[in-house]
Amino acid sequence: MKIGFIGLGIMGKPMAKNLLKAGHELFVFDINKDSVADVQAAGGKSTSSAAEAASNAEIVITMLPNSPHVKTAILGEKGVLEGIKSGTIIVDMSSIAPLASQEVEKACKAKGIKMLDAPVSGGEPKAIDGTLAIMVGGDKDIFEKVKPILLQVGASAIHCGNIGAGNSAKLANQVIVALNIAAVAEALTLVKKAGVDPDLVFQAIKGGLAGSTVLNAKAPMMIDSNFKPGFKIDLHIKDLANALDTGHGVGSPLPLTSLVREMMETLHADGFGQDDHSALARYYAKVSGTKIGK
Ligand code: NAD
Repeated sequence: MKIGFIGLGIMGKPMAKNLLKAGHELFVFDINKDSVADVQAAGGKSTSSAAEAASNAEIVITMLPNSPHVKTAILGEKGVLEGIKSGTIIVDMSSIAPLASQEVEKACKAKGIKMLDAPVSGGEPKAIDGTLAIMVGGDKDIFEKVKPILLQVGASAIHCGNIGAGNSAKLANQVIVALNIAAVAEALTLVKKAGVDPDLVFQAIKGGLAGSTVLNAKAPMMIDSNFKPGFKIDLHIKDLANALDTGHGVGSPLPLTSLVREMMETLHADGFGQDDHSALARYYAKVSGTKIGK
């Protein structure tokens, strides 16, 4: 199949490479020329704009940082809608505000183009393995059409409801992950301060009710003081800001999310925005005077 792929960052690059491996013809675009060259070397065809990438395609996939980038790439000058043929489907896999997905879909619909929102969870390792968890919003029949392609970059693809529902599901994912990481950092700082080895506590509790994927992935990073991303604090701030905006819009207060967002803002202000989100441990080191790691 001919696929336009726009946004070749940490996630988009391995996803595009997996689609090439699956035998698709890819027309790729990113404002960063180095990323384009990398995917071109793997067999992708370089294009000079989102419009050109879309003009060749039966499906256009976007994997961009946030709502404004998606609006620019799809609705802006030399954007997808300028080049796209009727019948082509747009699948936005970026994590953006559900309301923004609805706005962009409305503009696409006005031109007779169908769009899905299909954000992912799993991070770079699962993008490389092609085992992402994908949550999708939009027309069910369009979802069924593109599902086989989604399952070439993911291990699961679940239709969650109308357009924007994929990004609502992703916000839930990001709230749960952020609060879970904060709980791990808070608890491991407590035991360190109480004179108990955080690594032994991790080993002791990981098989019990406190065990989680987040605990297994992030406790070792905190214990090693290794905050190489992974998923950056600045991107998680973006997701929590989208969760808070959405919560305020629908009348669902998010007190815990608000607190953890402020912790992340503190880290951003201290210059740690590009660290992995496990760097929430740095926040606790700052307020307690004790590091979890050695
Ligand atoms: P990234 O910053 O590494 O990549 C984004 C890419 O988009 C960059 O290469 C940038 O040059 C390009 N770009 C920006 N504006 C553009 C435009 N107008 N036209 C063309 N290209 C443009 O980000 P990422 O980590 O790949 O994340 C992408 C999305 O996936 C985000 O919404 C993020 O929240 C989400 N996500 C990331 C992870 C992760 O672990 N990194 C996990 C799950 C979901």
